[in-house]
Amino acid sequence: MDHPTFRQLAHSMADLIADYWEGVESYPVLSQVKPGDVLAGLPKSAPQQGEHSDSNPQQFWNAISADLANIIMPGITHWQHPHFYAFFSANVSAPAVLADMLSSGLGVQGMLWATSPACTELEQRMLDWLGEAIGLPESFLFRSQGKGGGVIAGTASESTLIALLAARERARKSGITAPLTVYASNQAHSSVLKAALIAGIASSSSDNSAVRMIDVDGECRMKTDALRAAMREDISAGRSPCLVVGTVGTTGVTAVDPIGEMVFAINSLGAEHHPWLHVDAAHSGAACICPEMRWMLDGIEGVDSFCFNPHKWLLANFDCGCLWVRDRTHVLGALSVTPEYLRNAASEAGAVVDYRDWQIPLGRRFRSLKLWFVMRAYGVEGLRAYIREHVRLAMLFESLVREDARFEIVAPRTVNLVCLRLREGGDAANRALMDRINGSGKAYLTHTALPRTHATAPGALILRVAISGAQTRERHVRELWEMLRR
Ligand code: PLP
Repeated sequence: MDHPTFRQLAHSMADLIADYWEGVESYPVLSQVKPGDVLAGLPKSAPQQGEHSDSNPQQFWNAISADLANIIMPGITHWQHPHFYAFFSANVSAPAVLADMLSSGLGVQGMLWATSPACTELEQRMLDWLGEAIGLPESFLFRSQGKGGGVIAGTASESTLIALLAARERARKSGITAPLTVYASNQAHSSVLKAALIAGIASSSSDNSAVRMIDVDGECRMKTDALRAAMREDISAGRSPCLVVGTVGTTGVTAVDPIGEMVFAINSLGAEHHPWLHVDAAHSGAACICPEMRWMLDGIEGVDSFCFNPHKWLLANFDCGCLWVRDRTHVLGALSVTPEYLRNAASEAGAVVDYRDWQIPLGRRFRSLKLWFVMRAYGVEGLRAYIREHVRLAMLFESLVREDARFEIVAPRTVNLVCLRLREGGDAANRALMDRINGSGKAYLTHTALPRTHATAPGALILRVAISGAQTRERHVRELWEMLRR
């Protein structure tokens, strides 16, 4: 494809994306295809002859856009639909899409500083900008000239794994040889267990001697006395606490673990045992861009690492997960391996950051471009206004639910997630309600189960309404309530 043709088709693609955003409401939110429908529409093998020719680019474009419309679009669940309330959102924005286009066009592979200094240094600056914007202490930022800094780690799961590897490195370097243990609340994301499996610390997904799932209180927050007791028990049994994960905004109900109390529990073990404390704020961390939400970070000064995903609720397009550490020495100790072919003068001089040493893969895309475009396009104030509007809509939705005696709110609304259930009819009625809404294609919401220790509805199936669509307005929230009410 020659450059003039690319120019022409890229304009067509920009039109296609803008048309999609403008018309997204006309699609059923949840894809209605059956398993195998998309596969059935695709040839079993690749075409032998290319379909494109520069002499007639429109022919290729017409053919592939017809297949997009007929085969692919029916199999899309529309994450950018204003009635998407499922899981946590994965926002996109025009500035981030433009930046991603540039990243693809530049085709930079930023594994080393030397392989594109701008890729590394823009990322360093963006992690400082963003870290400051959400209220992280200076010690997590490069500009403090200390040992702290941040990296775009793709996903929160990768961040947890990196934190665990750094924690193990620190433990081993300090001479600990005992079997290592990991702690998180029983409401923490499954990626904690997965990280322990990948690192070889847990032997199976039910290995609860290596990964301790700590009880939560009636509002789904980790009980820190239970954490302390578990760590002490393990120490007495000859094991060594290695990593503690606190969650700021659990996946189920956005509960916030008491980070300050967790720091206190860790410090009470004495100098000999000092597990690494990682905070997973994958979704809710974005809200800390608003100073009034920073109570969620109380105690952050005592934390070793922190992550959140701007790709969830801060307009930065998947994938963009950010991880900050207070002391990068342990990350580098865990992840640096230097074969001859990667040696270069800048790295040897120790004057630069080589992000390959902060992650599992070697190669990496130029992802900081989208943070730069997003933060410059909207500014910190614009992003605050964006978050506050979703929080306002969630408060409105919560107040509508509370007015109807058939429903109950089953967890405190921390930010933009409202957790509700029908009082009558048990799990079956709640599931039927959700299935009916989702089956209608008009909106999409998902469920979870409350822990067995929950104060009013132990173990119950609940409906989650996460309000964070970039195009979700008050009208949509009121429409959703009408659908549920009816
Ligand atoms: N941690 C929490 C609290 C989450 O809610 C999620 C996903 O929603 C994750 C981790 C996993 O996110 P990722 O897909 O970035 O690995």
